[in-house]
Amino acid sequence: MDKELQIYNTLSRKKELFTPLHPPLAGLYVCGPTVYGDPHLGHARPAITFDILFRYLSHLGYKVRYVRNITDVGHLENDADTGEDKIAKKARLDQLEPMEVVQYYLNRYHKAMDALNVLPPSIEPHASGHIIEQIRLVKEILDKGYAYESEGSVYFDVPKYDKEHKYGILSGRNIEDMLNTTRELDGQEEKHHSVDFALWKKASPGHIMHWSSPWSEGFPGWHLECTAMSKKYLGDVFDIHGGGMDLIFPHHECEIAQAVASTGHEGVRYWVHNNMITINGQKMGKSLGNFITLEEFFTGNHAMLAQAYAPMTIRFFILQAHYRSTVDFSNEALQASEKGLARLLEAYENINRLEAKGSGVKDEIGVLESNCYRAMNDDLNTPIAISNLFEASRIINSSISGQTTVSGEDIDSLKKLFETFLFDLMGIKDEMKDGGASYESFAKVVDLLLDMRLQAKQSKDWATSDKIRNELTALGFEIKDTKDGFEWKLNK
Ligand code: ZN
Repeated sequence: MDKELQIYNTLSRKKELFTPLHPPLAGLYVCGPTVYGDPHLGHARPAITFDILFRYLSHLGYKVRYVRNITDVGHLENDADTGEDKIAKKARLDQLEPMEVVQYYLNRYHKAMDALNVLPPSIEPHASGHIIEQIRLVKEILDKGYAYESEGSVYFDVPKYDKEHKYGILSGRNIEDMLNTTRELDGQEEKHHSVDFALWKKASPGHIMHWSSPWSEGFPGWHLECTAMSKKYLGDVFDIHGGGMDLIFPHHECEIAQAVASTGHEGVRYWVHNNMITINGQKMGKSLGNFITLEEFFTGNHAMLAQAYAPMTIRFFILQAHYRSTVDFSNEALQASEKGLARLLEAYENINRLEAKGSGVKDEIGVLESNCYRAMNDDLNTPIAISNLFEASRIINSSISGQTTVSGEDIDSLKKLFETFLFDLMGIKDEMKDGGASYESFAKVVDLLLDMRLQAKQSKDWATSDKIRNELTALGFEIKDTKDGFEWKLNK
């Protein structure tokens, strides 16, 4: 079977066959969160996108070293070289140690990622734990002549680098345009050119996070951490660097410049970027009132949400779009995903009810399986893979209703198709089954209550029988009396 993954490389602007530098090892570095606020939808998409890549590469037999950093220093408010550090600001406002802010939101981030069934990376390094590596990298760039010191800070000399190596290859921006559109420096500033970026910043008197360096008591620039940490854990050249499209410029562009300036060559072989999420067609933002945290989605506790959405609904919804397309959240779209996922999970459950009746649909299932692989190999096309699972559901349902016959081998292949693609690769789990107590024990308790209700009815204890029925109904159970006893299902 063809299992050759073609992945879209933002740098070459085309799909390329993935061939790791040191097979069977595959190195994957993804820019992780800046932890100064509750995890929201914007965190879910890159986490899920690269979780799929991580799962698929592992499935293909690669030994993946997946590094996802925690930005806990140096990310200034306006994404440039000025403004307050986002974590330090939160710490100041809440009267906390910066690391208390980091730990608090990191715990919440991990909890949300667990709920979304995002696998933990192999290494999760903190920028603040790698100051020595970052200082060493600044020295290397200074030694190579691509940076300069100014008033205790160190800046990357973008025009000088551009002359020799071309700055802007990832984003397609060009330095003349950037110089034309950015304001003129007023001569008071430390930077030589408006396009230069900080490698090291001298801490101002009120700045609470700072370390000693040869240049000043200060802190590293935001872009530096990823270059330093990817180099440390994956080497000077590694396979895949991922992140959201919003990071292409300036963050990843600066990472390329830092790597080339320090080593003389590029460090990343495939640049992979996920597209953004909008809410009802608008960009998500605190000022627009459409900023929804993951916890608010899970509890339904937000004015814009018509109901609570299970983590798997969010995950499935994100996977129903290709990672390079935009995703627009709306109640209607999420409700449609919720129904779609329920249909797939029900079809999977129904496989257990299928009876082997001789001649089967081996060829059709074989086609669906190779379609799923073809979709995943084609730049992780999860929506196409999902549509093939819906096709498989149709086979299952038509076999249940007696229109199709399946063989024992077909039943096994259908099971394997769902287990491989829906559960192992898409990372969907049946929340009803996996939510702490098993579904089986949960179902037994409901059966027990309904048995008690049946006995109460037989002894004409209407009060008890009604109480059980009413309370279960209020909890969302639909109960149907049948000639053999009862049937129930949970509607939520
Ligand atoms: Zn980064």
